[in-house]
Amino acid sequence: MDITGDLLIGFKSISRAERGLKGVNPSTGEALGPDFVIATAADVAEAAELAWRAFLDYRQISLARRADFLAAIAQNIVDLGDTLVERAVAETGLTPIRIETERTRTVFQLRLFADVVRAGEFLDRRIDPALPHRQPIPKPELRLRQIGLGPVAVFGSSNFPLAFSSAGGDTVSALAAGCPVIIKGHPAHPGTGELVARCIVEAAKSTGMPDGVISFLMGAVETGKALVSHPRIKAVGFTGSRAGGLALCALAAARPEPIPVYAEMSSVNPVILLPTALANRSEEIARGYVASLTLGAGQFCTNPGIVLAIDGPELDRFISQAGAALAQVEPAPMLTDRIHETFQKGVNAIAGNPNVTSEATSAAANGPNRSEARIFGTTAEAFLADADLGEEIFGAASLVVRCRDTAEIVAALDHMEGQLTATLHLDDADIALGQSLTPHLELKAGRLLVNGWPTNVEVSPAMVHGGPFPATSDSRTTSVGTMSIRRFLRPVSYQNFPVALLPDDLK
Ligand code: NAP
Repeated sequence: MDITGDLLIGFKSISRAERGLKGVNPSTGEALGPDFVIATAADVAEAAELAWRAFLDYRQISLARRADFLAAIAQNIVDLGDTLVERAVAETGLTPIRIETERTRTVFQLRLFADVVRAGEFLDRRIDPALPHRQPIPKPELRLRQIGLGPVAVFGSSNFPLAFSSAGGDTVSALAAGCPVIIKGHPAHPGTGELVARCIVEAAKSTGMPDGVISFLMGAVETGKALVSHPRIKAVGFTGSRAGGLALCALAAARPEPIPVYAEMSSVNPVILLPTALANRSEEIARGYVASLTLGAGQFCTNPGIVLAIDGPELDRFISQAGAALAQVEPAPMLTDRIHETFQKGVNAIAGNPNVTSEATSAAANGPNRSEARIFGTTAEAFLADADLGEEIFGAASLVVRCRDTAEIVAALDHMEGQLTATLHLDDADIALGQSLTPHLELKAGRLLVNGWPTNVEVSPAMVHGGPFPATSDSRTTSVGTMSIRRFLRPVSYQNFPVALLPDDLK
């Protein structure tokens, strides 16, 4: 399969002489061909109209055939083999092992959703029998099922070139729900985005799905805005910056017909070290912390950005053990020069804060788009007084907050914004304290962990990858795991419908 740089509007590949975007290897700065066509507002409109027509057919296709479509996408991605891995490595600077692991997850996710569609439980079918003799008025028969919302705009993420891009979590959950998808590919990996989008197109053709069930557009900010504004688009999936997510939420809310935007934005994922665990296992915890902090150059929304613990010699020892582990880490390239620049700006700002100390640094950074990983320290008092200290620095930087007592840990937690995750490290003697902290954690985050690290998000039915704002724009949902399908569904009740009129799902 070749990378053409064309737009994919349904089954059509649209080539133009004028092209405005190319892939770049962030590890070397080298440009990667070909150049990509930038979608215009007219292209967006064509894709959106086609997606709407496809929706009218696609939503009626049997669940078994919809599942076959998802499974065929998975197989096409597997069949791309090294072509996909090599391009993704070149465009992202991530290691082949990381890309292969992400491909495994993406393929698993597609197959899991194929099973979800086949099982049909997401339809949430309910039947309330009629009570014709009920007094004072008869009760009608009611039957309920969930149906797809309509075409969904999916913004590929920069930091998951496979698992949260063309055929990632947002796309697969929307397709599973019966919604066509228009992907706005992320400019950090246009070739990877096109290869995977072509896998979806080929799967759609081979399983008899309607033209327009998928489109793939590369573009600029204006392309994304046109997409979110188009009346045929009925929901949006986004992973990226808080500014980007909020801009899309505002745009969607200002439409004549407002639509939901499921935006996953920023999170610093507090990790709380309880006293006995810190006293007994500081070295093991320090090693786990550094591994999680520096994984993928820290470019995970679940990166452990804040550590809270009671100040004292045990915490000093932990910081020095984390420092020793961090010194062994060689900085990896970040995904784009813009992300690298933003990281460096964030690090410079926190390093220049008079209430912050520099506690540890990785090995020196060598080469384009690399920065040293950093651990900083501050007091709970300073943390509570300065909202900037609770802001995400996207990359391998973390802040240890020294608390005088557990009351200060609680105050710091309560002061924080909404989070994707919150983690406790505890031993048996810390259980009572853990119990008292849990209600505070529940109000802050979508996923609570004990004695683990928040990076590595399992794709499974009980996973919540979501949380109160600004972690996401809608804390009632998840963007990872089978429950993510709910974002793209709405319920319909059928009252006193004769069997002949009922949809097959409800007969
Ligand atoms: P981004 O700047 O938010 O961009 C993500 C996508 O949204 C891109 O396709 C971008 O289009 C589009 N977009 C952004 N602002 C828009 C607007 N106002 N209107 C329409 N479309 C818009 O995110 P990024 O490029 O992935 O990384 C930039 C920063 O985002 C990072 O430094 C980091 O701080 C944060 N980030 C956070 C997470 C997380 O999970 N917490 C993940 C990734 C990134 P263009 O590319 O055309 O601008």
